[in-house]
Amino acid sequence: MSVNSDCLQVIPLGGVGEIGKNMFVLKYGQEMLVLDAGLKFPEEDMLGIDVVIPDISFLLEYRSLIKGIILTHGHEDHIGAIPYIISELNVPVYGTRLTLGLLRAKMDEFEQLRQLECHEITADQRVKISPSFELDFFRTNHSIPDSVGVIIYNPVGTVVYTSDYKFDQTPVDGKITDFYKLAKLGRKGVLVALSDSTNSDRPGFTPSEKEVGKTIDDIFRLSQNRIIFATFASNIHRIQQVIDAAYLHRRKICVVGRSIINSVQIASELGYLKIPEGIIIDPDQIGQYPPQKLAVITTGSQGEPMSALTRISVSEHRWVEIIEGDTVIISASPIPGNEKLVARTVNNLFQRGADVISQPLFEVHVSGHAGEEEIKMMLNLLRPTYLIPVHGEYRHQVYQARIAEKVGIPRNNIFLVEPGTVMEFSREQSRINGTVAAGKVLVDGLGIGDVGRVVLRDRRLLSEDGIVVVVLVIDPQQKAIVAGPEIITRGFIYVRESEHLLERARNTLLECLLELNVEQLLDWNIVKSRVRDAAGTFFYDQTGRRPIILPVIMETSSK
Ligand SMILES: [Zn+2]
Ligand SMILES: [Zn+2]
Repeated sequence: MSVNSDCLQVIPLGGVGEIGKNMFVLKYGQEMLVLDAGLKFPEEDMLGIDVVIPDISFLLEYRSLIKGIILTHGHEDHIGAIPYIISELNVPVYGTRLTLGLLRAKMDEFEQLRQLECHEITADQRVKISPSFELDFFRTNHSIPDSVGVIIYNPVGTVVYTSDYKFDQTPVDGKITDFYKLAKLGRKGVLVALSDSTNSDRPGFTPSEKEVGKTIDDIFRLSQNRIIFATFASNIHRIQQVIDAAYLHRRKICVVGRSIINSVQIASELGYLKIPEGIIIDPDQIGQYPPQKLAVITTGSQGEPMSALTRISVSEHRWVEIIEGDTVIISASPIPGNEKLVARTVNNLFQRGADVISQPLFEVHVSGHAGEEEIKMMLNLLRPTYLIPVHGEYRHQVYQARIAEKVGIPRNNIFLVEPGTVMEFSREQSRINGTVAAGKVLVDGLGIGDVGRVVLRDRRLLSEDGIVVVVLVIDPQQKAIVAGPEIITRGFIYVRESEHLLERARNTLLECLLELNVEQLLDWNIVKSRVRDAAGTFFYDQTGRRPIILPVIMETSSK
């Protein structure tokens, strides 16, 4: 990558070609800024992986230039990587009050981390973060309160990062997007916009969050039974509307599920959630209220296996047992990939006598992202010279590019890029100038990035055909096998019914080991590969399966 000092470079390290692990880098001269640091949940073939974070080797290379990480809102795909990367980077973090509150709660789970250097910002505040970068913000409407877009003033030209947004004309907290600020920006001139592509394939406008409030109120008014309401823990405005309906229709509320208890607590402490005195009850009080006087707010709208709603649906929850006539509202649409899990939970709930209300039959959820008409409006307000569609899989980026062309942004000024692409902007022109390292780092438990392709392949094989361990004891003095081969299997065959097969396998292995001469027998590598080949061939011929074969050789001394 050649460095042109008069240029502004924009480099996505994640969040393009995918929905998740958002991270965008701006570099001008000897100064760098990072916008968001999100994680992504693993795909189906990443067995045992907890989360996926962006590869930050590029940031580590230029660590001394980084002036800060700016977080736009408290969703995992924007803040979730911080606990994994911040101790290595050691740079200050900027965010609004709720975003930082949620981040601190996350950091508490990673006790070993030092205190974060946090700077709280508001939507109406300018921050001179370094000699060349000055930040300004604008409030956005999204499925979590206190979300902002970022305006980055710099010597080359204004950059606007919309982050996740929709235009809600009647938001629950009454705080609409600052249209005037956006229009003023557009009039002054925006060089580059990075804009949310999530719903670029949906025509029209995304409905207001208040629309869901009407449905919630209808359900609370008409239902004579218990109401169990499942949504995302961070959807504070949705939770507020449930609390409001419960208050109006005189129901008590029990909040169930660790993540939602946390977010309700943080949001109410910080003033984002208004909870009337005495409305919340403890789980052990549930039995004291008649069904028409009770509502439960919980997590599990995605059918996540460990979530409260999933456990409730199979009668495995400590406090909540479905009773005939319960109304369960699933107030979310399944994230692609989760459809089966959600369907299973819904089936189980029906089976236990609950009535389940969910999309698309009922208006119990709206998206937090802009539809086509809102994207047009954003682009018409900002009038950017260059557009980088972000926050979308490739098709979403393409759809936003088409929308942008409709409102007059020339195709040549739209960048459809992958993680690691270096885009360079000067006052006169723009170009793609190579790539930097970018990709995914897999996190499994405490290990960050130690699980690679090979480990994943092994996990896949283990999950498909199991494992066969072959144990041998060799005496180097006698130059002979003194015990084994013993065969131990897991997830391969049912041993009690396969004694005969294993006996024949032992004999086959022994025969092939006896063919080895003394030098070969004392060379572990040769013995191991012989065992692997012979056992692999034998079991494939006999069963059609390819378990992982793990030879274990021990040496014993006859003295
Ligand atoms: Zn978001
Ligand atoms: Zn997002």
